[in-house]
Amino acid sequence: MERVLRTAVLALWLSLTGLTGPCTADEEVLMNTKLETSDLRWTIYPSDDPQWEEMSGLDDEGVGVRTFQLCPGDSASSHWLRTRLIPRRGASHVYVELRFTMMECSSLPAHTYRACKETFNLYYYQADSDEATAMHPAWMENPYTKVDTVAADFLLRRGGERRSNVKTLRLSGLSQRGFYLAFQAQGACMALLSVRVFFKKCPALTRAFSAFPETLPHSLVQQSTGACVPNAASAPDDIKPPPPPPTMFCGEDGQWVGLPTTSCACQPGYEPQDVDLHCRACPPGQFKAGFGAGLCQLCPTYSYTNGPGNPVCLCRPGYYRAEGDPADTACTKPPSAPRSIITQINDTTVTLEWSEPKERGGRADLTYAVQCLRCSTPATSSSSSVPTCAPCAEGVSYRPTQSELTGRRVVVRGLRPHTTYTFTVLALNGVSALAPVPPASETVNLTTSRDVPVPISDIRKTRATESSLSLSWPVPHQPHYTVLEYQLRYCMKDPSDMGQSWQYVSSDMNSAVIGDLRRGSLYEVQVRARTMAGYGHFSQARSFRTMPDEEESHSRMVVTGVLVSMGVLFLIAVVFVAVYCFRRHSRVNDPEIMDKNGQYLMGQGVKVYIDPFTYEDPNEAVREFAKEIDVSFVKIEEVIGAGEFGEVCRGRLKIPGKKENYVAIKTLKGGYTDKQRRDFLSEASIMGQFQHPNIIHLEGVMTTSCPVMILTEYMENGALDSFLRLNDGQFTPIQLVGMLRGIASGMKYLSEMSYVHRDLAARNILVNSNLVCKVSDFGLSRFLQENSSDPTYTSSLGGKIPIRWTAPEAIAFRKFTSASDVWSYGIVMWEVMSFGERPYWDMSNQDVINAIEQDYRLPPPPECPWALHQLMLDCWQRERCSRPRFCDLVSALDKLIRNPASLKVTARHGDGPSHPLLDQRPPPPLSQCASVGEWLRAIKMGRYEENFIQAGFTSFELVSQISTEDLLRIGVTLAGHQKKILSSIQTLRVHGKGPSTLRY
Ligand code: AMP
Repeated sequence: MERVLRTAVLALWLSLTGLTGPCTADEEVLMNTKLETSDLRWTIYPSDDPQWEEMSGLDDEGVGVRTFQLCPGDSASSHWLRTRLIPRRGASHVYVELRFTMMECSSLPAHTYRACKETFNLYYYQADSDEATAMHPAWMENPYTKVDTVAADFLLRRGGERRSNVKTLRLSGLSQRGFYLAFQAQGACMALLSVRVFFKKCPALTRAFSAFPETLPHSLVQQSTGACVPNAASAPDDIKPPPPPPTMFCGEDGQWVGLPTTSCACQPGYEPQDVDLHCRACPPGQFKAGFGAGLCQLCPTYSYTNGPGNPVCLCRPGYYRAEGDPADTACTKPPSAPRSIITQINDTTVTLEWSEPKERGGRADLTYAVQCLRCSTPATSSSSSVPTCAPCAEGVSYRPTQSELTGRRVVVRGLRPHTTYTFTVLALNGVSALAPVPPASETVNLTTSRDVPVPISDIRKTRATESSLSLSWPVPHQPHYTVLEYQLRYCMKDPSDMGQSWQYVSSDMNSAVIGDLRRGSLYEVQVRARTMAGYGHFSQARSFRTMPDEEESHSRMVVTGVLVSMGVLFLIAVVFVAVYCFRRHSRVNDPEIMDKNGQYLMGQGVKVYIDPFTYEDPNEAVREFAKEIDVSFVKIEEVIGAGEFGEVCRGRLKIPGKKENYVAIKTLKGGYTDKQRRDFLSEASIMGQFQHPNIIHLEGVMTTSCPVMILTEYMENGALDSFLRLNDGQFTPIQLVGMLRGIASGMKYLSEMSYVHRDLAARNILVNSNLVCKVSDFGLSRFLQENSSDPTYTSSLGGKIPIRWTAPEAIAFRKFTSASDVWSYGIVMWEVMSFGERPYWDMSNQDVINAIEQDYRLPPPPECPWALHQLMLDCWQRERCSRPRFCDLVSALDKLIRNPASLKVTARHGDGPSHPLLDQRPPPPLSQCASVGEWLRAIKMGRYEENFIQAGFTSFELVSQISTEDLLRIGVTLAGHQKKILSSIQTLRVHGKGPSTLRY
């Protein structure tokens, strides 16, 4: 009967729903009877009356399964069934899924009904080894731990619904190696269809660049510590301390909860892949600079990589990346050297200007630095000794600064007079410091002006009142310059007052009155002189006392009156002697020249120019004004030009005990007449009387040798007109104004000496290596020699005249004055501003005279500042009295130099009076040019014709597209020339018509 019942229970079960589905990925199964196909080898108790019976059957899918069943009949005793040892495998709690069927007690035969139960008990027993035997542990509740009494939800009855029960029970507190499950039935008629023991765990997980290991939850939520995936990090490397590793929570149900606590991201050189799971290395030739999101980019210009995974690309040899340069910018290199340093020396101040380097190195942070070395040749040196150079002293200052200059101009002050300096201008940018070679530089050597003024030696009091002191002092003998001004300082000499507080007074003359003084007080006074070379040293201090009271003052006044009278008498005597001497020397025939060129004037003690021809024997004038130089001191090196009387050479002059200098040597060619010799040497006697930084300096003459020679300072850049033509467009307006200022200053000096030059023109201005312009050519002969072949000079009654440079009154009736020199100066201004253009171009002299007569004047040269053209027009006033004086011109130019913005306003062509003939003279409109070559020639850029042809710029369509880079490529490297060509093209575009048909 029991067997029948068991079979029925089993049969019922097999016909019911199949076994539970497969485990999910987050479950680990410790035991599953449905997977067992052979004997389960569980232990049954009591062994002598085993009620649990192991049976095999097939499930719905036809898979064989092992089951246990019992139906104990009328016995109510306990029947145990115990599994084998189930390993815990780290789980602290496990689930037991039971599938069973249970017979309804009422369906059982009546005799079994009384002891029948519809529940069973589940126990477990923990053990570190498989220690259980048939008798151990004892078959009772203790030592087992009860899990639950399991009741069936569905009971089987005959003819009823056939359903099995599935119950999942939780076992917790597991700590030993394994455990046994035990089933205790006490009257139940049931079949244990399957037992599955499992636990849940969180599987290994990669999320947001963080990897977490498989985690077993030991509690409700279990914290799991992960790590960033390879090539990812929780923060950039430079973050200290680094953030903690990412963590996540694993739920008891084996589900990860939430997101990682710390977010990881891809390291530089790696980009996200697989939707933020992994970090992939940037391929070769690409980089990723930043940490975190963002993709790899191609290497910027001039950089490369050696392999994959680069946070930054390496710079090619010769290229660098500055510290602050972003990794996605191109590698750059240091700039090339600054170009064309132009210096301007003013006393002990030097202005350096230069052009941009050809190559900026691909960066915008170009700056300049200036280095200064003071060089001197040892005193005992021979010509071969090497000068020693040392860094400039601290007293030297730089405006705006010495380094980090962004502009291309610096003014260096506080230099020593008459000293040779080497200035080096360095071009620097952000990567200059990284290059292994020193920064590119350009160097210039120069020598500052001569000595500073000689100190004043003897201050005298000429008058004193209660509140003032009148003081005077002798004019100091200045070897090189005239005194421009005196500065006097004074302070009260009070023994109780320790700190002296000086008051300053300036004076144009060698006397001064200081007022507002205290009665009867002692004052200390010092004076110093200022020349072009700057201030000299203060004189020794002298003390003077103011008058104590009225009476004393009166008596002093009487004494002073007597002294003044005596002084006046003495002065009269001096004037008498001077007039006598003047009469004795006066030998002039031409009253016009005599007027301006041949007199002594006693203008406040300033001796003026003396015409050498007023000497009975002009050789005497030579002896007086020019030093005779021993022929052995001179070495002639090369011929540099042709003068009126013979060749002009460059040579070296070494006077014993002095430094060797370059000199220009004018020679008088052989076969000369006495008159020619006189005329030749007259230039030396004139030049020898001048001492000014803008007048060519006479070194001396050699009259005893053959040929006769005149030695002057050497001017490296030669004549101004050819120098400007050679450097067309190379100088800024301010540089040109600087040159003009120098010439005006030299002419001011000459006019103050009452010397009229009569041939002021750019060809007669010489330029040295520092761009200092000096007036030269003091020979009179060319005006006198009728047979001279130079077409610049036109014969006129009484001499030859350079018509284009000469004022109308001088052309018309030989009225040569400083005012006519001012006219010529206006023409020089025009020559300078047009970079050596010929005044009035190819107009004939007669056309020029006629045009001037009709009040027409030269138009402004291209890009000439308006203010300069106005000055030119002032110089060309018909009325000579209305023209500015040279001192006015110097002040006007100084004003422009101080205010460079005023030079920005350019004069338009056609400003001021002009002439139909003159109007045609500036470069012809391009529309009139028949070819690109003709156009280039018209703008004085004909030298580039070949370059344009070779580069294929043969038509205007192409020329009109030309850029600065194109010009550089085809060899137009000078900035001035580029500007000239581009502005001409611009004009052409504006006019809209043009040589679209131009062809070579
Ligand atoms: P001159 O006879 O003064 O007209 O001189 C003729 C040429 O010689 C000038 O045009 C200059 O090129 C050159 N020359 C004259 N004097 C000097 C000098 N001091 N330094 C350099 N070159 C000079």
